Amino acid sequence: MNTWFSELQTRNVSLGIRIEDVLWHEKTQYQELAVLQTEAYGRMLVLDGAIQTTTQDEFVYHEMITHVPLLLHPNPRRVAVIGGGDGGAIREILKQPGIEEAHLIEIDEKVMEASKRFFPEIAQGLEDDRAHVHFTDGIAWVKQARDFDVIIVDSTDPVGPAEGLFAPEFYQNIYDALSRDGIMVAQSESPFLEPDIIQRVVAGVSRSFPVTRLYLASVPTYPSGLWSFTLGSKQPLRPARRVPLETRYWTPNIQDSCFHLPRFVEDLIR
Ligand code: SAM
Repeated sequence: MNTWFSELQTRNVSLGIRIEDVLWHEKTQYQELAVLQTEAYGRMLVLDGAIQTTTQDEFVYHEMITHVPLLLHPNPRRVAVIGGGDGGAIREILKQPGIEEAHLIEIDEKVMEASKRFFPEIAQGLEDDRAHVHFTDGIAWVKQARDFDVIIVDSTDPVGPAEGLFAPEFYQNIYDALSRDGIMVAQSESPFLEPDIIQRVVAGVSRSFPVTRLYLASVPTYPSGLWSFTLGSKQPLRPARRVPLETRYWTPNIQDSCFHLPRFVEDLIR
């Protein structure tokens, strides 16, 4: 089979990956969902033409969006993930000692259904007793949420239902939903291809949070391969706790070094 999937990442850039099979394809109430089999990246989950996760590189994103903020919190017990219906972030959160509740707030039930069926190694944490799944809009949910230690925004790009997940009011509602030492993190796109989104997220988060930091990780199937995360903290950041974790990308050194930014990224958020 010589069929190629092409993700149009900007008007001028696309990423092409040869596919071996289309395992699932449907239009859900919210988006177009596809599961593709590839030689290079294994199985790929695609929403509205954008790669969300692949079996080959998912560990980078899921480890970095969870362990970095959790280890900066003194004692995270109640954690929420907004978006993230594939379950990868929940799997990582549950590796940390002391977690009592991990809530997942996903708007589209079909994403989780696809993940459980085609990505069991990513979705495995969803069966844990500490995992609580809410199929609802994260923008509305966060307004009534309280006493969370860490909230993670594992969203799609800022279009359609995810647009409000990049708004300053949403970050203020997250602030209110967090406990005294609370920390949030949001995926904030690529510094090469979406610098304006990074600036928007950093500005929005810093309107509510006294401490705002950006960190980076390398995710080959995301636009440009270099990905950013924006962290907001209610308290000054302390040195990260040291906890033994079984990971493939995250290490104690990466916990600290991921905050050291290339100069062009520093300039972007100055
Ligand atoms: N790691 C991915 C990335 O950056 O490409 C994101 C993964 S995850 C699959 C994103 C999820 O956010 C999708 O399943 C989508 O349905 C969900 N989502 C989008 N808008 C949402 C909203 N307003 N509330 C809750 N979930 C939302």
